[in-house]
Amino acid sequence: LSIQEKIKSVIRDVPNFPKEGILFKDITPILLNPTLVNELVAAMADQFKNDEIDAVAGIESRGYLFGILLAQKLQVPFIMIRKEGKLPAKTIKESYDLEYGSATIEVHEDAITPNSNVLIHDDLLATGGTAIAAAKLIQQKAKVVGFSFVIELEFLKGIDHLNKINTHTKSLIK
Ligand code: IMP
Repeated sequence: LSIQEKIKSVIRDVPNFPKEGILFKDITPILLNPTLVNELVAAMADQFKNDEIDAVAGIESRGYLFGILLAQKLQVPFIMIRKEGKLPAKTIKESYDLEYGSATIEVHEDAITPNSNVLIHDDLLATGGTAIAAAKLIQQKAKVVGFSFVIELEFLKGIDHLNKINTHTKSLIK
């Protein structure tokens, strides 16, 4: 089996979570299989082997699971993008609109090397709103070289938004 087939076989579709009408893709079963985690991270790192990446920025919280492993594999720093109010030292912030209301994300200011090439990682691309906000946050100090996802929900066309920032988006499965 290919790594894509193996991942597809363990991802669980949960109907009506977190609300009615949403089919939630649950990646947690991947974590129960350390061999699969290894293969997944190797496959993601391989997608960016020809790119110059200075750091991986993971989006809270499922973006940390494989983001830090990806950074380790690429032997670059890992940057935590967090929801507002969780990081203790000086931060830079970015706010974005949600379906109802808005949200703010932040990073430690000294975690980002000015003008460095940052790869943004999250577990899943849906509408792209979260990834765009993360990109705008990173772009306050550095460059976004690409986006990495385990899963892309193609029917939501989040990729169209990301392509306005950067055409270098890779997901392991669609
Ligand atoms: P977007 O901003 O609409 O692209 O939503 C992506 C964000 O929501 C990511 O941080 C995902 O972790 C989370 N998300 C949305 N849908 C799912 C899902 O079906 N499974 C897991 N995470 C999801």
